[in-house]
Amino acid sequence: MRQSDLFTKTIKEIPKDEQSFNAQTLIRAGFIDKLASGIYSYLPLGLKVLNKIRNIVVSEMEDLGGQEISMPSLATKENWLATGRWDTMDVLFKLGAADKKEYALNPTHEEIISPLASKFISSYKDLPFSVFQIQTKFRNEKRAKAGLMRGREFLMKDLYSFHENQVDLDAFYERAILSYERIFDKVGLGDKTFLTYASGGSFSKYSHEFQTESESGEDIVYYCPNCDIGINKEIIDEQKNCPKCENSDLEEKKSIEVANIFKLGTKYSKPFNLVYKDREGNDKTVIMGCYGIGISRIMGSVVEVCHDDKGIIWPENIAPFKVHLLSLSADNEAEEIYKQLQEAGIEVLYDNRKASPGEKFADSDLIGCPYRLLVSSRSLKEGKAELKHRKSGEVEMIDLGGIVNKLQ
Ligand code: ATP
Ligand code: MG
Repeated sequence: MRQSDLFTKTIKEIPKDEQSFNAQTLIRAGFIDKLASGIYSYLPLGLKVLNKIRNIVVSEMEDLGGQEISMPSLATKENWLATGRWDTMDVLFKLGAADKKEYALNPTHEEIISPLASKFISSYKDLPFSVFQIQTKFRNEKRAKAGLMRGREFLMKDLYSFHENQVDLDAFYERAILSYERIFDKVGLGDKTFLTYASGGSFSKYSHEFQTESESGEDIVYYCPNCDIGINKEIIDEQKNCPKCENSDLEEKKSIEVANIFKLGTKYSKPFNLVYKDREGNDKTVIMGCYGIGISRIMGSVVEVCHDDKGIIWPENIAPFKVHLLSLSADNEAEEIYKQLQEAGIEVLYDNRKASPGEKFADSDLIGCPYRLLVSSRSLKEGKAELKHRKSGEVEMIDLGGIVNKLQ
Protein backbone atom coordinates (compact mmCIF):
# COMPACT_ATOMS: atom_id res chain seq x y z
CA MET A 1 0.00 0.00 0.00
CA ARG A 2 1.18 3.51 -0.79
CA GLN A 3 1.27 5.60 2.36
CA SER A 4 0.02 8.61 0.39
CA ASP A 5 -3.22 6.65 -0.19
CA LEU A 6 -3.86 6.04 3.53
CA PHE A 7 -6.68 8.32 4.58
CA THR A 8 -5.25 8.42 8.09
CA LYS A 9 -2.18 10.29 9.31
CA THR A 10 0.09 9.91 12.29
CA ILE A 11 -0.42 12.37 15.12
CA LYS A 12 2.47 14.06 16.96
CA GLU A 13 0.72 15.01 20.20
CA ILE A 14 -0.17 12.42 22.81
CA PRO A 15 -3.99 12.37 23.10
CA LYS A 16 -4.81 14.08 26.39
CA ASP A 17 -7.86 12.01 27.22
CA GLU A 18 -6.00 8.68 27.08
CA GLN A 19 -4.02 7.36 30.04
CA SER A 20 -2.90 4.01 28.70
CA PHE A 21 0.16 3.52 26.52
CA ASN A 22 -1.66 1.21 24.10
CA ALA A 23 -4.43 3.72 23.35
CA GLN A 24 -2.08 6.73 23.16
CA THR A 25 0.27 4.95 20.78
CA LEU A 26 -2.33 3.22 18.60
CA ILE A 27 -4.16 6.53 18.15
CA ARG A 28 -0.97 8.47 17.37
CA ALA A 29 0.14 5.83 14.87
CA GLY A 30 -3.25 5.84 13.14
CA PHE A 31 -4.41 2.32 14.05
CA ILE A 32 -7.52 3.24 16.02
CA ASP A 33 -9.72 6.25 16.74
CA LYS A 34 -11.60 6.96 19.92
CA LEU A 35 -15.31 7.75 19.81
CA ALA A 36 -15.84 7.72 23.57
CA SER A 37 -14.44 5.95 26.60
CA GLY A 38 -14.06 2.25 25.76
CA ILE A 39 -15.39 2.70 22.19
CA TYR A 40 -12.96 2.69 19.27
CA SER A 41 -12.93 2.53 15.47
CA TYR A 42 -10.35 0.33 13.79
CA LEU A 43 -8.62 2.19 10.97
CA PRO A 44 -6.91 0.49 7.98
CA LEU A 45 -3.65 -0.31 9.84
CA GLY A 46 -5.44 -1.38 13.01
CA LEU A 47 -7.95 -3.58 11.23
CA LYS A 48 -5.12 -5.41 9.47
CA VAL A 49 -3.60 -6.30 12.85
CA LEU A 50 -6.95 -7.26 14.35
CA ASN A 51 -7.75 -9.51 11.38
CA LYS A 52 -4.38 -11.25 11.61
CA ILE A 53 -4.95 -12.03 15.28
CA ARG A 54 -8.44 -13.21 14.39
CA ASN A 55 -7.16 -15.49 11.62
CA ILE A 56 -4.60 -17.10 13.94
CA VAL A 57 -7.34 -17.77 16.49
CA VAL A 58 -9.81 -19.09 13.90
CA SER A 59 -7.28 -21.52 12.47
CA GLU A 60 -6.39 -22.87 15.93
CA MET A 61 -10.07 -23.24 16.88
CA GLU A 62 -10.77 -25.10 13.65
CA ASP A 63 -7.83 -27.43 14.35
CA LEU A 64 -9.39 -28.07 17.74
CA GLY A 65 -12.54 -29.17 15.93
CA GLY A 66 -14.58 -26.01 16.54
CA GLN A 67 -17.19 -24.98 13.96
CA GLU A 68 -17.45 -21.26 13.33
CA ILE A 69 -20.83 -19.58 13.73
CA SER A 70 -22.04 -16.04 14.38
CA MET A 71 -24.65 -15.33 17.01
CA PRO A 72 -26.63 -12.10 17.37
CA SER A 73 -25.47 -9.17 19.46
CA LEU A 74 -29.02 -8.59 20.69
CA ALA A 75 -30.70 -11.02 23.05
CA THR A 76 -34.19 -11.21 24.45
CA LYS A 77 -34.72 -10.50 28.13
CA GLU A 78 -36.22 -14.00 28.60
CA ASN A 79 -32.91 -15.68 27.77
CA TRP A 80 -31.12 -13.63 30.41
CA LEU A 81 -33.91 -14.12 32.95
CA ALA A 82 -33.66 -17.89 32.48
CA THR A 83 -30.18 -18.00 34.05
CA GLY A 84 -30.86 -15.22 36.53
CA ARG A 85 -28.20 -13.04 34.99
CA TRP A 86 -30.62 -10.31 33.79
CA ASP A 87 -30.54 -9.03 37.39
CA THR A 88 -27.08 -10.08 38.56
CA MET A 89 -24.73 -9.20 35.72
CA ASP A 90 -23.69 -5.64 36.47
CA VAL A 91 -22.09 -5.00 33.07
CA LEU A 92 -25.19 -5.99 31.06
CA PHE A 93 -26.33 -3.30 28.62
CA LYS A 94 -30.13 -3.24 28.52
CA LEU A 95 -32.29 -1.50 25.98
CA GLY A 96 -35.88 -1.13 24.93
CA ALA A 97 -37.16 -1.78 21.43
CA ALA A 98 -40.09 -0.62 19.29
CA ASP A 99 -42.07 -3.76 20.28
CA LYS A 100 -42.01 -2.42 23.87
CA LYS A 101 -39.89 -5.39 24.94
CA GLU A 102 -36.52 -5.24 26.66
CA TYR A 103 -33.34 -6.61 25.16
CA ALA A 104 -29.71 -7.07 26.17
CA LEU A 105 -26.55 -6.45 24.20
CA ASN A 106 -24.72 -9.71 24.78
CA PRO A 107 -21.60 -9.48 26.96
CA THR A 108 -21.06 -13.25 26.47
CA HIS A 109 -23.19 -15.91 24.77
CA GLU A 110 -24.05 -18.80 27.10
CA GLU A 111 -27.66 -17.56 27.14
CA ILE A 112 -27.79 -17.84 23.35
CA ILE A 113 -25.73 -20.94 22.60
CA SER A 114 -27.41 -23.25 25.14
CA PRO A 115 -30.97 -22.94 23.78
CA LEU A 116 -29.52 -22.99 20.25
CA ALA A 117 -27.62 -26.23 20.92
CA SER A 118 -30.72 -27.83 22.46
CA LYS A 119 -32.36 -27.72 19.00
CA PHE A 120 -29.71 -30.10 17.66
CA ILE A 121 -28.85 -32.36 20.59
CA SER A 122 -31.13 -35.28 21.32
CA SER A 123 -28.91 -38.33 21.72
CA TYR A 124 -25.44 -39.19 23.00
CA LYS A 125 -24.68 -39.71 19.30
CA ASP A 126 -24.90 -35.92 18.82
CA LEU A 127 -22.04 -35.35 21.28
CA PRO A 128 -19.36 -34.11 21.63
CA PHE A 129 -18.98 -30.98 19.50
CA SER A 130 -17.81 -27.42 19.84
CA VAL A 131 -18.74 -24.13 18.19
CA PHE A 132 -17.09 -20.75 18.28
CA GLN A 133 -17.51 -17.23 17.04
CA ILE A 134 -15.48 -14.07 16.84
CA GLN A 135 -17.93 -11.41 17.72
CA THR A 136 -18.37 -7.98 19.21
CA LYS A 137 -19.26 -8.06 22.90
CA PHE A 138 -20.80 -5.23 24.89
CA ARG A 139 -20.09 -4.59 28.56
CA ASN A 140 -21.05 -1.60 30.61
CA GLU A 141 -17.58 -1.41 32.17
CA LYS A 142 -17.08 1.18 34.91
CA ARG A 143 -13.33 1.29 34.39
CA ALA A 144 -13.20 1.66 30.61
CA LYS A 145 -10.03 3.72 30.56
CA ALA A 146 -7.27 1.35 29.56
CA GLY A 147 -7.71 1.64 25.80
CA LEU A 148 -8.18 -1.70 24.06
CA MET A 149 -7.70 -3.55 27.35
CA ARG A 150 -11.14 -2.73 28.67
CA GLY A 151 -13.62 -1.72 26.02
CA ARG A 152 -17.34 -1.22 26.43
CA GLU A 153 -17.48 -2.71 22.94
CA PHE A 154 -14.73 -5.22 22.11
CA LEU A 155 -13.89 -8.28 20.05
CA MET A 156 -13.84 -11.68 21.71
CA LYS A 157 -13.51 -15.26 20.53
CA ASP A 158 -15.81 -17.48 22.53
CA LEU A 159 -15.94 -21.22 22.03
CA TYR A 160 -18.47 -23.53 23.72
CA SER A 161 -18.03 -27.29 24.00
CA PHE A 162 -20.73 -29.90 24.69
CA HIS A 163 -20.06 -33.29 26.28
CA GLU A 164 -21.67 -36.42 27.67
CA ASN A 165 -19.52 -36.55 30.76
CA GLN A 166 -16.73 -34.92 32.69
CA VAL A 167 -14.01 -37.25 31.34
CA ASP A 168 -14.76 -36.07 27.83
CA LEU A 169 -14.86 -32.41 28.90
CA ASP A 170 -11.54 -32.79 30.76
CA ALA A 171 -9.81 -34.23 27.69
CA PHE A 172 -11.13 -31.46 25.45
CA TYR A 173 -10.19 -28.80 28.02
CA GLU A 174 -6.57 -30.01 28.03
CA ARG A 175 -6.45 -29.82 24.24
CA ALA A 176 -7.92 -26.31 24.35
CA ILE A 177 -5.08 -25.25 26.68
CA LEU A 178 -2.54 -26.44 24.11
CA SER A 179 -4.37 -24.52 21.35
CA TYR A 180 -4.27 -21.37 23.46
CA GLU A 181 -0.53 -21.80 24.07
CA ARG A 182 0.02 -21.99 20.31
CA ILE A 183 -2.11 -18.88 19.79
CA PHE A 184 -0.03 -16.86 22.24
CA ASP A 185 3.20 -18.10 20.64
CA LYS A 186 1.94 -17.09 17.20
CA VAL A 187 0.77 -13.59 18.19
CA GLY A 188 4.16 -12.94 19.81
CA LEU A 189 3.14 -13.06 23.48
CA GLY A 190 4.33 -16.63 24.17
CA ASP A 191 7.37 -15.64 26.25
CA LYS A 192 5.34 -13.47 28.61
CA THR A 193 2.12 -15.47 28.85
CA PHE A 194 1.41 -18.29 31.27
CA LEU A 195 -1.49 -20.43 32.43
CA THR A 196 -2.98 -19.17 35.69
CA TYR A 197 -5.27 -20.79 38.24
CA ALA A 198 -8.24 -18.56 39.01
CA SER A 199 -11.43 -18.85 40.96
CA GLY A 200 -14.79 -19.44 39.43
CA GLY A 201 -15.13 -22.83 37.81
CA SER A 202 -18.73 -23.79 38.59
CA PHE A 203 -17.84 -27.44 38.01
CA SER A 204 -14.24 -27.55 39.13
CA LYS A 205 -12.17 -25.92 41.83
CA TYR A 206 -10.57 -23.49 39.39
CA SER A 207 -11.05 -21.78 36.12
CA HIS A 208 -7.93 -21.02 34.11
CA GLU A 209 -6.73 -17.75 32.77
CA PHE A 210 -3.90 -16.91 30.45
CA GLN A 211 -2.02 -13.97 31.92
CA THR A 212 0.53 -11.83 30.10
CA GLU A 213 3.17 -10.25 32.31
CA SER A 214 3.05 -6.44 32.01
CA GLU A 215 3.44 -3.48 34.36
CA SER A 216 0.27 -2.09 32.80
CA GLY A 217 -1.78 -5.13 33.87
CA GLU A 218 -4.70 -4.85 36.30
CA ASP A 219 -4.22 -8.33 37.74
CA ILE A 220 -1.73 -9.57 40.31
CA VAL A 221 -0.57 -13.15 40.05
CA TYR A 222 1.84 -15.30 42.00
CA TYR A 223 4.12 -17.01 39.52
CA CYS A 224 5.95 -20.32 39.90
CA PRO A 225 9.14 -20.18 37.79
CA ASN A 226 9.59 -23.97 38.06
CA CYS A 227 6.28 -24.71 36.37
CA ASP A 228 5.68 -21.47 34.39
CA ILE A 229 2.21 -21.15 35.86
CA GLY A 230 0.51 -18.54 38.02
CA ILE A 231 -2.14 -18.27 40.69
CA ASN A 232 -4.40 -15.23 40.58
CA LYS A 233 -4.12 -13.17 43.76
CA GLU A 234 -7.93 -13.32 44.07
CA ILE A 235 -7.66 -17.02 45.03
CA ILE A 236 -4.34 -17.05 46.83
CA ASP A 237 -6.07 -17.51 50.21
CA GLU A 238 -7.14 -20.97 49.14
CA GLN A 239 -3.98 -21.83 47.26
CA LYS A 240 -0.75 -20.62 48.87
CA ASN A 241 1.64 -22.95 47.01
CA CYS A 242 2.12 -23.84 43.38
CA PRO A 243 -0.68 -26.32 42.58
CA LYS A 244 1.76 -28.36 40.48
CA CYS A 245 5.04 -28.57 42.42
CA GLU A 246 3.99 -27.23 45.87
CA ASN A 247 6.71 -24.55 45.64
CA SER A 248 5.90 -21.76 48.12
CA ASP A 249 8.51 -19.34 46.77
CA LEU A 250 6.26 -17.61 44.25
CA GLU A 251 7.01 -14.33 42.43
CA GLU A 252 4.44 -11.53 42.47
CA LYS A 253 3.79 -10.14 39.00
CA LYS A 254 1.45 -7.62 37.42
CA SER A 255 -0.30 -9.06 34.42
CA ILE A 256 -3.07 -8.78 31.85
CA GLU A 257 -5.80 -11.43 31.62
CA VAL A 258 -5.81 -12.24 27.91
CA ALA A 259 -7.98 -15.36 28.07
CA ASN A 260 -10.22 -17.27 30.45
CA ILE A 261 -11.52 -20.84 30.19
CA PHE A 262 -14.13 -22.53 32.38
CA LYS A 263 -15.58 -25.94 33.00
CA LEU A 264 -19.22 -24.89 33.21
CA GLY A 265 -20.70 -28.28 33.98
CA THR A 266 -24.48 -27.98 33.79
CA LYS A 267 -24.72 -24.33 34.88
CA TYR A 268 -26.06 -23.12 31.53
CA SER A 269 -27.48 -26.38 30.16
CA LYS A 270 -29.94 -26.91 33.05
CA PRO A 271 -31.84 -23.60 32.69
CA PHE A 272 -32.46 -24.34 29.01
CA ASN A 273 -33.22 -28.05 29.46
CA LEU A 274 -30.23 -29.01 27.33
CA VAL A 275 -30.45 -32.79 27.66
CA TYR A 276 -29.55 -35.90 25.65
CA LYS A 277 -30.62 -39.56 25.80
CA ASP A 278 -27.75 -41.77 26.98
CA ARG A 279 -27.10 -45.34 25.78
CA GLU A 280 -29.75 -46.67 28.16
CA GLY A 281 -32.34 -44.18 26.96
CA ASN A 282 -32.20 -42.01 30.09
CA ASP A 283 -32.29 -38.20 29.90
CA LYS A 284 -28.97 -36.65 30.97
CA THR A 285 -27.98 -33.00 31.19
CA VAL A 286 -25.28 -31.93 28.75
CA ILE A 287 -21.91 -30.91 30.26
CA MET A 288 -20.40 -27.70 28.90
CA GLY A 289 -17.14 -25.82 28.76
CA CYS A 290 -16.51 -22.25 27.60
CA TYR A 291 -13.31 -20.76 26.30
CA GLY A 292 -12.88 -16.99 25.83
CA ILE A 293 -10.03 -15.01 24.41
CA GLY A 294 -9.81 -11.24 24.03
CA ILE A 295 -8.97 -10.53 20.38
CA SER A 296 -8.84 -6.74 20.76
CA ARG A 297 -7.29 -7.04 24.21
CA ILE A 298 -4.47 -9.11 22.65
CA MET A 299 -3.82 -6.25 20.23
CA GLY A 300 -3.57 -3.79 23.13
CA SER A 301 -1.42 -6.22 25.13
CA VAL A 302 1.06 -6.63 22.29
CA VAL A 303 1.49 -2.84 22.18
CA GLU A 304 1.99 -2.71 25.96
CA VAL A 305 4.59 -5.49 25.82
CA CYS A 306 6.32 -4.94 22.46
CA HIS A 307 7.48 -1.33 22.11
CA ASP A 308 10.34 1.09 22.75
CA ASP A 309 10.33 4.84 23.32
CA LYS A 310 9.91 5.45 19.57
CA GLY A 311 6.84 3.31 19.00
CA ILE A 312 5.41 -0.14 18.46
CA ILE A 313 7.48 -3.23 17.54
CA TRP A 314 4.94 -5.60 15.94
CA PRO A 315 5.66 -9.33 16.03
CA GLU A 316 5.92 -10.43 12.41
CA ASN A 317 2.79 -12.63 12.38
CA ILE A 318 0.44 -9.79 13.27
CA ALA A 319 2.25 -6.75 11.83
CA PRO A 320 0.09 -4.56 9.55
CA PHE A 321 2.85 -4.90 6.93
CA LYS A 322 6.08 -6.87 6.99
CA VAL A 323 8.13 -4.12 5.35
CA HIS A 324 8.02 -0.35 5.51
CA LEU A 325 9.69 0.92 2.34
CA LEU A 326 11.03 4.47 2.58
CA SER A 327 12.19 6.53 -0.35
CA LEU A 328 14.56 9.43 0.22
CA SER A 329 14.91 11.16 -3.15
CA ALA A 330 14.97 7.79 -4.90
CA ASP A 331 11.40 7.53 -6.05
CA ASN A 332 11.96 5.67 -9.35
CA GLU A 333 14.02 2.93 -7.75
CA ALA A 334 11.73 2.69 -4.72
CA GLU A 335 8.73 2.42 -7.03
CA GLU A 336 10.42 -0.49 -8.83
CA ILE A 337 11.21 -2.25 -5.51
CA TYR A 338 7.64 -1.67 -4.34
CA LYS A 339 6.32 -3.44 -7.43
CA GLN A 340 8.72 -6.36 -7.01
CA LEU A 341 7.77 -6.84 -3.35
CA GLN A 342 4.07 -6.73 -4.19
CA GLU A 343 4.48 -9.24 -6.99
CA ALA A 344 6.32 -11.54 -4.59
CA GLY A 345 3.40 -11.29 -2.16
CA ILE A 346 5.43 -9.50 0.51
CA GLU A 347 3.25 -7.08 2.47
CA VAL A 348 4.72 -3.63 2.09
CA LEU A 349 3.76 -0.13 3.15
CA TYR A 350 5.51 2.31 0.82
CA ASP A 351 6.22 5.77 2.17
CA ASN A 352 6.15 7.70 -1.08
CA ARG A 353 5.13 10.96 0.60
CA LYS A 354 6.93 14.23 0.07
CA ALA A 355 8.04 14.42 3.68
CA SER A 356 11.33 15.08 5.45
CA PRO A 357 13.65 12.14 6.29
CA GLY A 358 13.10 12.85 9.99
CA GLU A 359 9.34 12.62 9.58
CA LYS A 360 9.57 9.38 7.61
CA PHE A 361 11.90 7.74 10.15
CA ALA A 362 9.76 8.82 13.10
CA ASP A 363 6.55 7.54 11.49
CA SER A 364 8.20 4.28 10.55
CA ASP A 365 9.38 3.65 14.13
CA LEU A 366 5.98 4.64 15.51
CA ILE A 367 3.99 2.35 13.16
CA GLY A 368 6.43 -0.46 13.91
CA CYS A 369 6.62 -2.79 10.89
CA PRO A 370 9.26 -5.52 11.50
CA TYR A 371 11.55 -4.31 8.66
CA ARG A 372 12.38 -0.85 7.34
CA LEU A 373 13.80 -0.76 3.84
CA LEU A 374 15.44 2.54 2.94
CA VAL A 375 16.30 3.53 -0.61
CA SER A 376 18.17 6.81 -0.82
CA SER A 377 20.35 8.61 -3.34
CA ARG A 378 23.29 7.65 -1.08
CA SER A 379 22.48 3.92 -0.89
CA LEU A 380 21.89 3.88 -4.64
CA LYS A 381 25.47 5.01 -5.31
CA GLU A 382 26.52 1.54 -4.12
CA GLY A 383 23.57 -0.10 -5.87
CA LYS A 384 22.06 -1.02 -2.51
CA ALA A 385 19.18 -0.46 -0.09
CA GLU A 386 19.42 -0.35 3.69
CA LEU A 387 17.44 -2.95 5.64
CA LYS A 388 16.84 -2.24 9.32
CA HIS A 389 15.32 -4.75 11.73
CA ARG A 390 12.87 -2.83 13.94
CA LYS A 391 13.35 -5.04 16.98
CA SER A 392 17.13 -5.52 17.11
CA GLY A 393 18.07 -2.30 15.32
CA GLU A 394 20.46 -4.32 13.14
CA VAL A 395 21.24 -2.69 9.79
CA GLU A 396 22.27 -4.49 6.61
CA MET A 397 23.08 -3.17 3.12
CA ILE A 398 21.46 -5.31 0.41
CA ASP A 399 22.01 -5.38 -3.36
CA LEU A 400 18.94 -4.03 -5.13
CA GLY A 401 18.64 -7.34 -7.00
CA GLY A 402 18.57 -9.39 -3.80
CA ILE A 403 15.83 -7.61 -1.84
CA VAL A 404 12.93 -9.93 -2.62
CA ASN A 405 14.98 -13.03 -1.81
CA LYS A 406 16.15 -11.54 1.45
CA LEU A 407 12.64 -10.64 2.60
CA GLN A 408 10.89 -13.83 1.52
P1 ATP B 1 -11.92 -9.10 33.29
O1 ATP B 1 -11.66 -9.91 34.53
O2 ATP B 1 -10.66 -8.51 32.72
O3 ATP B 1 -13.01 -8.10 33.46
P2 ATP B 1 -13.56 -11.22 32.42
O4 ATP B 1 -13.05 -12.28 33.33
O5 ATP B 1 -14.84 -10.59 32.72
O6 ATP B 1 -12.43 -10.10 32.19
P3 ATP B 1 -14.31 -13.06 30.33
O7 ATP B 1 -15.76 -12.90 30.46
O8 ATP B 1 -13.67 -14.30 30.84
O9 ATP B 1 -13.56 -11.78 30.92
O10 ATP B 1 -13.94 -12.79 28.81
C1 ATP B 1 -12.98 -13.52 28.07
C2 ATP B 1 -11.84 -12.61 27.62
O11 ATP B 1 -12.34 -11.45 26.96
C3 ATP B 1 -11.02 -12.05 28.76
O12 ATP B 1 -10.05 -12.99 29.17
C4 ATP B 1 -10.39 -10.84 28.11
O13 ATP B 1 -9.26 -11.20 27.34
C5 ATP B 1 -11.47 -10.34 27.18
N1 ATP B 1 -12.22 -9.24 27.78
C6 ATP B 1 -13.10 -9.29 28.80
N2 ATP B 1 -13.63 -8.08 29.06
C7 ATP B 1 -13.06 -7.23 28.16
C8 ATP B 1 -13.21 -5.84 27.90
N3 ATP B 1 -14.05 -5.09 28.60
N4 ATP B 1 -12.49 -5.31 26.89
C9 ATP B 1 -11.64 -6.06 26.14
N5 ATP B 1 -11.47 -7.37 26.35
C10 ATP B 1 -12.16 -7.96 27.33
MG1 MG C 1 -11.95 -13.56 33.40
